[in-house]
Amino acid sequence: MPLLVTIGLEVHAQLNTDTKMFCACRTSFGDDPNTNTCPVCLGYPGALPVLNKLAIEKTLLTGLALGCGSPEFSRWDRKNYFYPDMPKNYQTTQMDFPLCLGGGVPLFDDCYPTDARKSIKTPNKIVRLNRIHLEEDVAKSTHLATTSLIDFNRAGTPLMEIVTEPDLESAEEAFAYLRSLQLVLQECDTSGADLEKGNLRCDVNISLREKESDPLGAKVELKNLNSFSAIRRSIYYEIERQTEELGMGIAQIQSTRRWNDELGETQMMRTKEDAHDYRYFPCPDLLPIATAPLLEIVRPLVPEPRLSKISRYQNDFGLTTYDASVLTADRHLATFFEETNTPEIPAKKTANFIINNLLGTLNEQSITIADCPVPPKKLRDLLSLVENGTLAPNQAKEVFTVLFSSPQREVKAIADEMGFKPTSAGELDSLVDQIIAENPEEVAAVKAGNEKLINFLTGKVMKSAPTKPNPKQVTDLLRARLL
Ligand code: ZN
Ligand code: MN
Repeated sequence: MPLLVTIGLEVHAQLNTDTKMFCACRTSFGDDPNTNTCPVCLGYPGALPVLNKLAIEKTLLTGLALGCGSPEFSRWDRKNYFYPDMPKNYQTTQMDFPLCLGGGVPLFDDCYPTDARKSIKTPNKIVRLNRIHLEEDVAKSTHLATTSLIDFNRAGTPLMEIVTEPDLESAEEAFAYLRSLQLVLQECDTSGADLEKGNLRCDVNISLREKESDPLGAKVELKNLNSFSAIRRSIYYEIERQTEELGMGIAQIQSTRRWNDELGETQMMRTKEDAHDYRYFPCPDLLPIATAPLLEIVRPLVPEPRLSKISRYQNDFGLTTYDASVLTADRHLATFFEETNTPEIPAKKTANFIINNLLGTLNEQSITIADCPVPPKKLRDLLSLVENGTLAPNQAKEVFTVLFSSPQREVKAIADEMGFKPTSAGELDSLVDQIIAENPEEVAAVKAGNEKLINFLTGKVMKSAPTKPNPKQVTDLLRARLL
């Protein structure tokens, strides 16, 4: 019998504010070390913190989007410990009255690892949240052979700590949770939520037990998980390691382990401190926050939940689940689609062009949709030319390639220049007549039932046309004459 796996996640998400949590220093990344610092974030004695209102609002907004509640007053606490990257010797954080309580993160189907999407154990699962609190980041240490360097640019950056209940049961669910949370944070525009850039950091708590009625086993915390694959692999590894040890009668102890990505194993760091080891107490420098007025400010900013958006796209626009999922995975992409979409063009065609051609081109050139050079209106102009028969779908792709590199030009002008003009009806008629006259054998064959040869004749007309007519228009004319 395999043991039951219980997983809880703690995610630190860096808020995307311009300035730090308790001072006016910039949060910009990549500046020279120790240039974005001041007495507050360097922890000078006597320096007093000033709250970053936007950071508080963004945390409350995230909480609303995830269905959290908030205490009437939220409070600041000091978490005391010594570490060189934190010269105050305490982290200003929130213990008993965090900004957000409860709520949950829905696991979206397309957020599971690709190979696990066909066998989702609990569809539409919502992972309950315990809390979201706001705190400050520490400095960044770099350890060299004989010295260590500390960069305080990151110290004091606002972090949301998002803590789940122990609701997850597998590596796949943990993966889906993180990816789903990432989408929600990006949709709310409260965090870049990029794991690779370090603005989303994840710790996994994992324990095993024999049956549901047993108390939860001693939990092991995994640290240093900085990619989706590391999260999945480390959980597999840890399930196997704990299963093996428990099988040999070795009891697990509450501890923290580091994931070594190269070796593909977790390594013991320390046995875990309990909360009381940190001697939390209310921060005497900061007043509690009355949450109600701030909640009213952010309530109108809560984005449409992704699942409602997906069903709206299906119901209102007739899109497939797949199309709707792709388009709603990025708020900029969804906006782009909605701004391109028009009643004159079937939404399915617009979605197809965006997903297959636009996204493909953006990917090739490593441009994000937010920086797409072609504005929605120009794409709509292009699709209208397909809709009115001026351009065949393949021709539209060619025009799009040119448009992408010179987006300031008019679509019609590009199409004209490339010879994609509707050949005048009379002109096209006489061309068709001419080709029919020149190819009596093929014409006879078509009339005898070999419809495939229509394509051959279409090709002939296309070649002799002065412009590049829409092949469909030519085929239709030939059919009308011959069949
Ligand atoms: Zn500062
Ligand atoms: Mn924390």
